[in-house]
Amino acid sequence: MTPEMILTNARVLTMDPARPRAEAVAVAAGRIASVGSRAEIEALAGPGTEVIDCNGATLLPGFVESHLHLVLGGAELAHLHLHGLDGEAALTRAFRDFAAKHPDRPLLMAQGGHYAMLDHPMTRHDLDRILADRPLAITSHDHHTVWANTAALRAAGLLHGASMPHGHEVVMGPDGTATGELREFEAFAPVIALGGEARLNLGIATGGEPSPWPSETEQAIDRAKVTRGLAHAARHGVTAMVNMDGNRYTLELLRGLQKEGGLTARVKVPFHFKPHMALSELDRADAMSRDFDDDWLSCRFVKMFMDGVVDSRTAYMLNDYPGHPGHRAEPLFPPARFNEIATEIDRRGHQIAVHAIGDGAVRTTIDGYEAAREANGRRDSRHRIEHIELIDRADVPRLGALGITASVQPVHAPGAMDFDMFPTLDVIGRNRWADAYLCRDLAAAGAHLAFASDWPVTDISVLRGIGAALTRPTYEGAADQRVPLMDVLRAYTAGGAWAAHMDRLTGTLRPGMAADLVVLSGDIETVAPAEISGMAVALTVCGGRVTHRG
Ligand SMILES: [Zn+2]
Repeated sequence: MTPEMILTNARVLTMDPARPRAEAVAVAAGRIASVGSRAEIEALAGPGTEVIDCNGATLLPGFVESHLHLVLGGAELAHLHLHGLDGEAALTRAFRDFAAKHPDRPLLMAQGGHYAMLDHPMTRHDLDRILADRPLAITSHDHHTVWANTAALRAAGLLHGASMPHGHEVVMGPDGTATGELREFEAFAPVIALGGEARLNLGIATGGEPSPWPSETEQAIDRAKVTRGLAHAARHGVTAMVNMDGNRYTLELLRGLQKEGGLTARVKVPFHFKPHMALSELDRADAMSRDFDDDWLSCRFVKMFMDGVVDSRTAYMLNDYPGHPGHRAEPLFPPARFNEIATEIDRRGHQIAVHAIGDGAVRTTIDGYEAAREANGRRDSRHRIEHIELIDRADVPRLGALGITASVQPVHAPGAMDFDMFPTLDVIGRNRWADAYLCRDLAAAGAHLAFASDWPVTDISVLRGIGAALTRPTYEGAADQRVPLMDVLRAYTAGGAWAAHMDRLTGTLRPGMAADLVVLSGDIETVAPAEISGMAVALTVCGGRVTHRG
């Protein structure tokens, strides 16, 4: 077959151990037709072949984003981005400009807040000074806390408190009114709803479906947001992604785009299992997996949250938080219950991905996977743990031994990219830094690595992520957790594909695989690690189709 496209004069890193390097790639019918030398591949060109000269730049398999939130990220592209602004004056300026530009928005929503924006814990009164006459809210960069002003709390019905499921909290002040701090998804869902985005938040908040089912007009609004998210991902070289929240509605939106020809990446969407659910709700996971199962859209996995996050001390720890005697937070699933759930999900043939940040949550999750294996025998399950920000040393070798993927985000390590070292490292406590944000140690102990941004929690830029993984700081008393460039690239390509059960489709460049590839602006092997974040993605191709041209 005459190739439709030839990419030549490239430094091709195939991630295929049988042939790790090449100079050119030929693409036909959406697949890789051949990989080889310039002479070999250029000889295949026919009259209709587009020949792309890569000028000696790196050509890789398309990036696999192993943990992101596509729908939320797409929606947030239209919000105010605070980009680490600090202090009341800067916030006031940013919000008043944004308010003037968007006089009709029912909620002025900002992203990228952090826990030390002011020199004291932020309250609704601080936000009222910024803007009192319209509802406004700020989401923390980790997306586990929202701060809202009085107008937003009142409109959302939260000003005088609200009963919440375990782990979700409308923080109340001594005067019996809400302070403005809303912890975890269900606590801030009523505020998000003011902005018309409640139905997009269901995948992460409750795992439920919108009711009533959105009208065609509403779905078109939502598809446009997803389209912006997909275009943003394509600009950064992403050709496959594992969405880490979900429901059937998310899959239906994506299928709508697929039918219109607008699906520019392969997307896996989970069923989100919440603590209040009965095991029989897993029938919905079975149905989603049955109804969406092609090379572009699939489910076949269940997402759960075992705990919260470090900064708000909702991550479940094995030891007390420093300075907070008796406080370790709690697992969102009691261990015996989690064992039962994990065993049932595994029995149904689904993969499991659990958000576990504290060392207690990580242990509980590993124990559950082990229980599933004991009950069901060894399967090719590839269960995964998301984040692993702190782990007990005794648990490090258990990941490799049980075939568990460490789905980690090197960009989340404090000081590695956009997150400050403090207060996070103080919350963890100096005596635990040696076991925090591990990467190299997990890989050395045999864990599969998959890297990601958790966008919109952090910048989706894979090149910035690669740079962060190569340059992240070593905490005092801890071992260096940087991994070599080839291992970093593998974790963003073949490693991610394996962890997503997509390794027969994407993640390596060899004949027969999907033509998912990315060309960078230069040769990444000769660029200093600190300069990699300044590189760009020159070309993204997914399924043989150009999805971004820089
Ligand atoms: Zn996430």
